[in-house]
Amino acid sequence: MKRAAHGWIALRAYKLIDDISVNGRIGNVRHTDKLIELLSYYLSGVWDGAWIPDSLICDMKYGHIFKQTNDPKILGSKSKDKRSQAPYKELKSILKGKRLCLERLKKEEVLNEHYWSEEGHLPDRVIALTHTVSDMLKLGDFPLAFYLREQRREAYEGDLSAAGVKNLSLSPTFSARQIATTLFMLSHYIADAHMPLHCDYRDYSRRNKIRPMSPRLHPSIEEEWEKSFPKEKMLGIGKYSKDSVDDIVLNLPKNSIIETDKYKLSASAAGLKKSNDNVWEEMVNICRVSYALSRTWIDKENTKENQEAGYDDVRELIKRKGKEEFIDVTNQIFHDAVESVARIWLLVWGKFIKKPKILFIANKDKYHMEVHQDTCPWLGLVKKSNKIRFTNLIDAHKQGFDNCAHCIGGSKR
Ligand SMILES: [Zn+2]
Ligand SMILES: [Zn+2]
Ligand SMILES: [Zn+2]
Repeated sequence: MKRAAHGWIALRAYKLIDDISVNGRIGNVRHTDKLIELLSYYLSGVWDGAWIPDSLICDMKYGHIFKQTNDPKILGSKSKDKRSQAPYKELKSILKGKRLCLERLKKEEVLNEHYWSEEGHLPDRVIALTHTVSDMLKLGDFPLAFYLREQRREAYEGDLSAAGVKNLSLSPTFSARQIATTLFMLSHYIADAHMPLHCDYRDYSRRNKIRPMSPRLHPSIEEEWEKSFPKEKMLGIGKYSKDSVDDIVLNLPKNSIIETDKYKLSASAAGLKKSNDNVWEEMVNICRVSYALSRTWIDKENTKENQEAGYDDVRELIKRKGKEEFIDVTNQIFHDAVESVARIWLLVWGKFIKKPKILFIANKDKYHMEVHQDTCPWLGLVKKSNKIRFTNLIDAHKQGFDNCAHCIGGSKR
């Protein structure tokens, strides 16, 4: 996929999470509002961030692909291995939530075949990045650290960013900006898994220049898709504003073939249901669906006769199989790509946001208005109805509570 497509997918996934969050949560993932807040400051980075894998990392030949084949000669004994087969029912039970590409393939014979990956390690790239983001979140600066658990109790009792901490062991390591950038990069790889030709072994030039598919097909499909998304002027947004995000992702170019009404994104948590915590498995299965889609969609290979007939790019594909199919497949791919990005972002976030421990309890009695460590003996004297629970001190301070001089210290009164 190309730059605008990648930028749009990341931004659309962001809006999707924002839209279906209810009281700051989606299903059992908590504080989704904080994820939105974190990303919101850096949306101007989408245009560059979601393109870094192509512009700076340049691992297209292995990181962006997971090319599979059903060729028995290449598969060898794997063609008898049960693991090389993933029929519809199995994929359906693994890939939870709404998956338009998989549904499209429901009755296709290709899903009963044996096939295996021969090239590329896209799922590894995705799992590596998800772990990286998780680690960055754990090591992140204010305010992220406050959603962490008790391990940080000592280090993060104050607002370290405000204090300008110099001690490396206490100070912020990864900024929210770096985390946002990494999430945008992650979206690139997840999106690429949905481009069927990134998962199809036939689409590559190999030894002896053997290339069953026309070299122009893949780039020309992506060039055609690119026309459907906002240009840099739009996607390279400035300051965060909810309206402008809506404007950008919903007001597609006039000739866009993306039909947001017909191929609706999930309106609730159910559609984004996560399969399990295994992102690698999730990506392998997304790539399997993608490969099967390629096999049914691109069913004509680059044989000599076909070359003579002029079958070499997206225009020919559309001419041969109809505009309707092209629009249908395109919409299903982008629908699933957006939801996969949102789903995996939420998965990373959900792992980070484990149930925060209540570490502080404040006394809201207007003559006291003090916050205590939850172990403070003074709490024994506080009426139950006056107790407010906090996971961190900063929220308590924002609500006007002063530190207890006994258990926390640094009282301002
Ligand atoms: Zn591509
Ligand atoms: Zn790519
Ligand atoms: Zn106290």
